This record gives sequence, C-alpha cells and structure tokens, in this order.
Amino acid sequence: MTSHYLGTTHSVDNQPVALENYNLFRADRALQEAVVREGAAWAQQDLVDFGRLAGLPATIALGFDANHYKPELRTHDRYGHRIDQINFHPAYHELMRIAIENGLHSSPWQSPGAGAHVARAAKYYLHTQVEAAHGCPITMTFAAIPALQHQPDLLAAYGPKIIANTYDPRNVPDGQKQGLTIGMAMTEKQGGSDVRSNSTRAYPVGQRGPGQAYELVGHKWFVSAPMCDAFLVLAQTEGGLSCFFLPRWRPDGTKNELQIQQLKQKMGNVANASSETELRGALAWMVGEEGRGVRTIIEMVAMTRYDCMIGSSSGMRQAAAQAIHHAQNRAAFGSRLSEQPLMQNVLADLAIENEAAMTLTMRVARSMDQQDNEHERLLSRIATPVGKYWICKRTPNHAYEAMEVIGGTGTMDTHITARLFRESPINAIWEGSGNVQCLDILRALQKEPEVLAAYFTEVERAQGADKRLDASIQKLKQQFAAGGDAETLQYRARSMADQMALTLQAALLVQHAPTAVADAFCAGRLGGQEGLNYGTLPRGVDTKTIIERAAPNE
Ligand SMILES: Cc1cc2nc3c(=O)[nH]c(=O)nc-3n(C[C@H](O)[C@H](O)[C@H](O)COP(=O)(O)OP(=O)(O)OC[C@H]3O[C@@H](n4cnc5c(N)ncnc54)[C@H](O)[C@@H]3O)c2cc1C
Repeated sequence: MTSHYLGTTHSVDNQPVALENYNLFRADRALQEAVVREGAAWAQQDLVDFGRLAGLPATIALGFDANHYKPELRTHDRYGHRIDQINFHPAYHELMRIAIENGLHSSPWQSPGAGAHVARAAKYYLHTQVEAAHGCPITMTFAAIPALQHQPDLLAAYGPKIIANTYDPRNVPDGQKQGLTIGMAMTEKQGGSDVRSNSTRAYPVGQRGPGQAYELVGHKWFVSAPMCDAFLVLAQTEGGLSCFFLPRWRPDGTKNELQIQQLKQKMGNVANASSETELRGALAWMVGEEGRGVRTIIEMVAMTRYDCMIGSSSGMRQAAAQAIHHAQNRAAFGSRLSEQPLMQNVLADLAIENEAAMTLTMRVARSMDQQDNEHERLLSRIATPVGKYWICKRTPNHAYEAMEVIGGTGTMDTHITARLFRESPINAIWEGSGNVQCLDILRALQKEPEVLAAYFTEVERAQGADKRLDASIQKLKQQFAAGGDAETLQYRARSMADQMALTLQAALLVQHAPTAVADAFCAGRLGGQEGLNYGTLPRGVDTKTIIERAAPNE
C-alpha cells in the first residue's frame, strides 16, 4: 500500500526540453546564406558535420564542465621545483582538441584561398556557441602567424607546429610536441591600452636586433592561457618597445623564467586561465625590427579584434536561439510566449541584432580573404574597429535580454544564458576597449583617408533601397564633412562609430537579408522611432517571419 505522504507532489509541466540534439549550422538560415554569399559554399558539408557535433548533448556538456571546474595553478611540485602548471578539467582539453583538429586556430594559413577565412569564421561561430572561453588560446594561436611573418626564421622554425592540427597540452619543451599554442603578453599594471608605458626590459644575450636572443625582466599583469607553448611579448630595449617570441621552455630543455604568480578571479571567461606573471630573465627572440614592437604585434591584435567580432556575434546567436526556443515551448497567461505580441517584439529584436552582427562579421571575413584587392583591404581596416567596438558593446544587453526571456531559470548556472551573460563584457574590454577602438577608427581615417571612401563605396551599394538608410548615409557624410579639431573628433568618436556601424549593418541587410529582417533593422535602428531597450521595434514589423527564420529548428 502506498502512503499518501510519499505521493507525487507535482509533475514538471510547461518547461521546454533542453535545446540540444540539433544541428547548429542547419538550424541557422542566416549563417548558411552568409557562407555561400561570402565565398565559402565549398565548406558547407564540413559545416553541416561540425554543426551536428556542436549540437550533441555530450559536446554541450563540455562547455558546462569546463566552466564549473575552474583551472587551477600549481606553482611548485611536491619537492619545491617551480612547475607553473595549470590543471584543467578534461572537458576543457576536449574543447581545445575539437577546435584545433578542426583548424579553428589555423585553417586560412594552412589552406589560403577563396572563402578560407569565411569558412573558419563560420566554424568558430558554431563552436564558440558551445563554449567561448577556450576561444582565447585558439584565437591567439591563429593571430600569432601574421606577427611572426615579420621574422621569417622564427616562422620557419615554429610556424609548421603552430598551424598543425595537433593538440598537445603537456607542459614539456616544444621540441617534444607536434602542435603548439601561442599566447600574448602586453598588458602591465601601469598600462594596458597604453602599451608604450611597458616597463619590462629586454637585455641582449649577444648580438642585438631582429631574430637575436634577449633575456626579459619585468612583469605582465594579464597573461591569458599561460600554458601556451610560447608568447608574443612586448619589452623595452635601447631602441624602444620591441616584440619578442618567448617560449615556455628553453631550447636546452630547462624551464624558461616565466613565473606565474596567480590566476585572475574572473567574473566570466572562467574556463580560460588568465594569469599574473613575472619574467625573471626569460629567454626570448626579437620579432621584427627593434623599436617597432607595436607595429609588429598589432598584426596579431588586428586578428584577435576580428575574432572578438565572431565571438560576440556567436554569443548573440546562442542567446537568440535559446530565447526563441524557450518562448516557443512555454506558455503564460493562456498562450505560448512566442505568440504574445510584446514577446514577439523582444524576440524579433534579439534576432535582427544577431543577424546584423553576423552579417557584418562574415562580410569582413571575405575582406580578409581578398587582401590583395585594395577596396577589401581598406574596408577591413575600417570595418574591424567599427565592428569590434559595436558588436562587442551590443552583446551584454543582448545576453541579458535573452536571459530575461528564459526568466528565473535563465539566471542559473545550469542554463547557458547565465554563462553567455558573464562572458559578454569580456570581448568588449580586451584587445582594445571601446574607446580604444573609436580612437583606432580616427587613426585609420587620419593615416589612410582612403578608408573612408572605401566605407562609403560599400554602404552606397545599398543606396536607393531604403529611405532611412539613405538618410543615414547622408547624415554620416555631413558629419565627416564638418570635420573638427582633434579634441572635437575624439569627443564625438563614439557617436560616429555607432552611426558607422549601424549604417554598414543596415546596408548589408538591405542587400542580402529577407525584407522582413532588413525592414525591421532600418525601422528599429535608423527610423528615429527606436527605443533604448530591446523589444521596442515600431509597429508594422513582421516579427513572425523574423522569429521563424531565427528559430533553431532544422
Ligand atoms: C579576461 C581578460 C584576459 C586578458 N588577457 C590578456 C592577455 O592574455 N594578454 C594581454 O596582454 N592582456 C590581456 N588582458 C588585458 C586587456 O587587454 C586590458 O585589460 C585592456 O587592454 C585594457 O587595459 P587596462 O585594463 O590597463 O585598462 P586601461 O588601459 O587603463 O583603460 C581603462 C579605460 O580607459 C579607456 N581608455 C584608455 N585610453 C583612453 C583614451 N586615450 N581616451 C579615452 N579612453 C581611454 C579604455 O577604453 C578603458 O575603458 C586581458 C583582459 C581580460 C579582461
């Protein structure tokens, strides 16, 4: 006989099933169209396979485990030797293995050509929806190659192992490995954006100059992924700030004097270890010309900034997909959330923001594939700081709104939206924070004024298709014509960057997206009726079509 005290208290009703067992590529129409449009149609089958992998429950679980079990630093072994070892949960290593075996760290360098960057960007966009933090060492390894091209002997020695599809997490000398990961150490306590204030000094071991050995003494205040096999580092020499390649182990098999003091206690990006380090005579080789360290490492930074665009667009995609999935499978006050007008406004707004971000990102990917075309080179120069600034800055509020769509469960660490939210400010702050991107836009305009013509050529391709867009282009032109002194320009730089980003996104959507999406974007971002929050699209927007397009249904 069953006691009524042990009877069932409730059944779980009106809760969606977890969004898993779906193909992240096939469920993303906007991404599929972008891949074809920007020149990587040849990669579709690979992306279908990869999208399936990214949607498996076991893959999704890796993201949760890698963040729940934080990386731990062990500075010394039991006998007192320095080891500077970071221990990760196996889930982190598995995410790294998947990323590297699929070429997210190198495919455009391994097989350059039409669509190479586009295909990689699409894969990165899929993979970082599962887990974003491990993207840091993947991106830095990818971005190191353009900087190393300034030092061909080092590139020849290390390049093949950097681009290899082999993940080897062991803390052993690089000579014993088939695959290497690369980090970047610029930021010091007294200055992050202002790297020229770096105090770390480099002393020549013998000869001075490019490719020569130096010993570095100083500190680095932020060194992410300190278990990388080598780092690109800035340090002062007699000739000024220079760039160095600093391996974790010396060629003689002894540990290099890169000592990890502690790991940062981060509010997000938890699966990625970020550390404070000291350099106590660490051996390194100069990369590129002495005194031109910023010019050399900026090649790496330009790539990492671009990856921030992919990463934040990816976070938005996962947030929008989760929000729509939830609203389609939960009812309140008598009908599904996704059928209620106010929620439709919120969901459609989240969806168009994501599509605009992804569309701009993939357009820049094509520019990266076509750097020998002058228009594409100039466009990527200006569109990267514009996109990095705008997309990364739009992401935190987007993540928060998606979390609110889920409701209370969305704030729990058992739901991915909580992680998306905590991850969301990071891309905006590192690799040049918002103001620094805006100042970079001004620098680009000043050093190479042709970038502005390239920008307007690009947006004017959409001229005549939407009155609100036409007006936005004219307004921008007037603002640029008004000019101003340096102080005025700096003061207004964010307003200009906002307008440049919105106009470029609108121009791309008007040309390439379905009418419902392009019209909603122009109405909600350029129409003059827009509100300050998501969910304030004006009347007349076809929210149903937008939501249906963005819904993560195959
Ligand atoms: C999770 C994480 C990991 C990181 N990993 C690494 C790493 O691996 N390697 C590395 O080198 N660094 C790393 N960083 C450091 C990061 O790049 C810096 O935090 C960033 O560059 C900003 O530098 P800062 O913190 O010193 O701030 P500051 O440079 O002091 O800037 C503070 C604020 O002032 C603004 N500002 C700066 N100059 C101006 C100006 N002229 N006009 C107007 N506003 C201005 C900035 O935009 C920013 O908002 C990491 C940071 C984080 C959060």
